[in-house]
Order: sequence, then C-alpha cells, then structure tokens
Amino acid sequence: METEHVDCLIIGSGPAGYTAAIYAARADLKPVMYQGLQPGGQLTITTEVENYPGYPQGTHGPKMMEDFEAQARRFGTDIRFGLATKVDFSGPVHKVWIEDQRLIEAKTVIIATGASAKWLGLESEQRLNGFGVSACAVCDGFFYRGQDVAIVGGGDTAAEEASYLAKLCKKVYMIVRRDELRASKAMQHRVFNTPNIEVIFNTETLEILGENGVSGARFRNVSTGEQFELPVTGFFVAIGHTPNSGIFKGWLDMDESGYIKTIPGSSKTNVSGVFACGDVQDHIYRQAVTAAGSGCMAALDAERYLAAVEVPA
Ligand code: NDP
Repeated sequence: METEHVDCLIIGSGPAGYTAAIYAARADLKPVMYQGLQPGGQLTITTEVENYPGYPQGTHGPKMMEDFEAQARRFGTDIRFGLATKVDFSGPVHKVWIEDQRLIEAKTVIIATGASAKWLGLESEQRLNGFGVSACAVCDGFFYRGQDVAIVGGGDTAAEEASYLAKLCKKVYMIVRRDELRASKAMQHRVFNTPNIEVIFNTETLEILGENGVSGARFRNVSTGEQFELPVTGFFVAIGHTPNSGIFKGWLDMDESGYIKTIPGSSKTNVSGVFACGDVQDHIYRQAVTAAGSGCMAALDAERYLAAVEVPA
C-alpha cells in the first residue's frame, strides 16, 4: 500500500471542507482533500440558497459548491475523489486510510464529513428506495410531475422540499408526526399558503405500498389510532440527518448521536492535531454559513498547531 506524508489532510467537501481548504492553502499548508461519497456535500442536493450572505439575489446549492471548489483549487488545494475508511489517531502523526488503497500520514487532520439523511427504518422503505422512495425531492421530484406524492417530516427541509414538489406535482401530502411543524415560521407560512400542499398532523407511516414502484402508503393517526391509505406514487423522507462520524468512533469524543465534540470556541477535538468543522460537529445551527465559518476556524487552528508543535515528519 502506498504511504503519503502530508501536513494537512481535509476529509469532506461541503462548505466546511472547502473553506478549510481555502484558508489552509493560502497559509501554505498544502492541503490534500478527499471529497468523500458526495462531492460538494448536502448543498449539491438542494435548490435555491437565499440566506448565504453576499448573494443578494440568491444562488443555487450546486453552483455555490462549484464556486467553493474553484476557490479552493485556485490556491493549490490537492482535491481528490476518494473515501476515508479507517483512521488511527494513536500517535503524533495521524493515519488515515483511503479505501484500503492508500495510507495518508498527516500532521493535522480536518474532519468535515458532514451529515447524511435519516430514514424511517421501514422494510418497504428500503425495498422501494430508488423505486419511488427518495430522501431528495430536488433530485427526484422531476419524476413525479403531475402526480400525487407524500413527504414525511416537519422541519425546514421537509417544508422546503414540499414547496419544491408542489411546483411539480398535483398534490403533496406532508406527513407530520406531532401536532405542529418544527420548521421556521417563514417556511410554515409558505407551506400553509400553498394550495396543493396538505399537512397531515399526528401521523406516522406504517408501510409504503407497491411492488416495483410506489402505489401508495399506509398511515396511522397517533391520537385516534385510525389507519388510512393515500394513493401516492412518490414517497419522500425528510426527517433530519445523522453525522458521518462512524470511522472516528473510539478515537474522538462524541455525543450520544455521534456528533464530534469540539472544545468550545475552537475546532479542536480531544486528539491534538485533529480538528472538526461543519455539520459533523454541529447539530444546532447546521447552516452553510456556520459550516463555512467553522471550516475557517479549523484551518486557523491547524496552522497554529503546526507552528507551535514539532510533529515528526
Ligand atoms: P430537523 O431535525 O429540523 O427536523 C426533522 C423533522 O423530521 C422534524 O419535524 C421531526 O419531528 C421529524 N422526524 C424526525 N424523525 C422522524 C421519524 N422517525 N418519523 C417522522 N418524523 C420524524 O431536520 P431538517 O433536516 O428539517 O433541518 C435540519 C437543520 O437545517 C435545521 O436547523 C433547519 O433549520 C436547517 N435548514 C434550514 C433551511 C433554510 O434555512 N433554508 C432549509 C433546510 C434545513 P419532530 O419535530 O417531532 O422532532
């Protein structure tokens, strides 16, 4: 296996990873970035971004990530496809394996692996995934033009995706497990004022129906126990995310949901020279702009660490 020595390894390529790369490259840390499974991260599966400062007319998530990447490349970041699959943080030099093919020995590691969509956990959801079941309305909504669909979730993501689907589909049922939405008031307003979105509260999904595609779904009202079916052909899940921190378990301190703990006011983890930024360490704000800010912190922390500590090459 080939072994490579680097000063700064960045794992992940969302707003946090790219911002860390821009700062690290400009500080001459010669960062190497592995982009992971979804280059550009979660913003590549969203549409409009209206709340990132500096874009008064708004922009699109995928375009924004192309710009972030171009800016990181401009200063010499070595950006590579590939997935980090194993780490060993026991020594002063940190070992990271890339798909069991390459070993990177890094003086500093910046973890920016983000978070991934959660699923309901139903057998039918797994069986029909990609055949009518999706966790990305923006990616797959197009296939359900003029049809009736359901989306599960009551947060900003579900509200945003319901609004997006409402433009394409005949009818959108928004299935919410409690008696209120978690989404911001502005998003709630948008949902409630879209005539072809029907919000169904206090409801859980029992089963998604269909053999080779979705033909409907069966639900239960949790207050009354009443069961009912809706004849939808698309079923979208938008119930939040889990942090992509699995390979760091046992090495880094995490909370009970797997979010990496950082020392408040910094990006430092419990391992010297290992820093975390973006959604993998933030379950509260989870915004592109906060992820980018924390990526900047991680690069500055890595730079200061390298200047202060004598790490063997
Ligand atoms: P959230 O965690 O905010 O919301 C998840 C939603 O899914 C909640 O309504 C939750 O219900 C529901 N849910 C969770 N598990 C289940 C389950 N097993 N079955 C049924 N329903 C379930 O996640 P989001 O992805 O919506 O948002 C994440 C963050 O990103 C938030 O901070 C949000 O504000 C932000 N965001 C901002 C946007 C913007 O500003 N444009 C756009 C999208 C996201 P319950 O409320 O009962 O827990």
